[in-house]
Amino acid sequence: MKLTERRVPGYERVLLAEDPAAGYQGVIAVHSTVLGPAVGGTRLWRYADQEGALRDALRLSRGMTYKNALAGLPFGGGKSVIIENVEIADRERLFRAHGRAIESLGGTYVTAEDVGTGPADMEFIRQETNYVGGLAARSGDPSPHTARGVFRAMQAASRDHWKSDSLAGKTVTIQGCGHVGESLARELHRAGARLVVSDVDRNRAAKLAREVQAETVEPDQIYSPAADVFAPCALGGVLNDETIPRLQVQIVCGAANNQLLESRHGDALRDRNILYVPDYAANAGGVINGCCRELLGWSLEQTLEKIEAIYGTISDILQMSHRESIAPDAAADRVAEARFAPAPKSVSSRKSSTAISH
Ligand code: NAD
Repeated sequence: MKLTERRVPGYERVLLAEDPAAGYQGVIAVHSTVLGPAVGGTRLWRYADQEGALRDALRLSRGMTYKNALAGLPFGGGKSVIIENVEIADRERLFRAHGRAIESLGGTYVTAEDVGTGPADMEFIRQETNYVGGLAARSGDPSPHTARGVFRAMQAASRDHWKSDSLAGKTVTIQGCGHVGESLARELHRAGARLVVSDVDRNRAAKLAREVQAETVEPDQIYSPAADVFAPCALGGVLNDETIPRLQVQIVCGAANNQLLESRHGDALRDRNILYVPDYAANAGGVINGCCRELLGWSLEQTLEKIEAIYGTISDILQMSHRESIAPDAAADRVAEARFAPAPKSVSSRKSSTAISH
């Protein structure tokens, strides 16, 4: 195993890890451990090269610091990526190599599943290190918790905008009928909302539509219906120069990560009097569930209470955005930054105390 430290301003530690015999090439980025050990999943992806993987790890780990801080979790932000540039010959060997790289960080970074990885991979990592969550039969599928958090965020936005939590009679358009989108649709249906759903997988959209009595539209039409709320639950970058002028809603609140193509699009929504609920504040239910249950040993009841509290976080952010005349995403960033500022301390000056017991 070859481990190379890369100094990156603003990041506590960045590790380039290679084990050619295992077909392993990865990057582990620890953005901040100011609030606690850096928590963030392992992504397996076909990157063009190591620099591309590095850029993604840096962006994602920074995002985790903000998400964990805003969710009020005693964790910092980190992320790791594994480059999948050839057919994986031996998944166990690959993830065990990654586990050894994680172990070398001595608990300053704790991983879990992310795009391209699952509970079985986490079990392989667990053979080499304790610093892993997301194992089979642990905190379970995060999606319903993410959906519940998005629902609470939507209620907070509704209260802010319409002076009522009730979404009964409101029309919500949902982009993406996957794990989170379908849970959210069910919750909104129970709450009496009218739904318009869309998915590139038309069968999936049609099946969900039958269940929750929704209308379906073609994927490229989901931005246009006159509705009250738009809930992006598929891809990032969907709020951009092309889509924002088409929106005929008053609130945008969904689960997808990185919904704003660029940060200026937060202002573009504000200019159109569309209330944007920052994605990483609304979609924290899954990470709250994983962290609280697996790393902090909380009961399900305590954890659900924390997910419900997303309502208060969103209310505070929206109030700050009104008070300071800034976009809600800028307000969310300020609240998060105030929690993990001053500038990250170096890892050597901290002692990590959170390990996972199994
Ligand atoms: P998923 O893969 O289960 O579902 C995504 C759905 O979007 C799929 O059904 C897919 O066919 C559909 N889709 C893709 N492109 C589309 C398009 N252009 N138009 C319409 N539909 C499209 O994923 P998920 O777990 O439901 O996550 C949804 C989003 O929420 C992702 O951006 C994810 O990063 C984010 N998120 C998920 C969680 C979680 O707990 N699962 C937590 C935080 C954030």
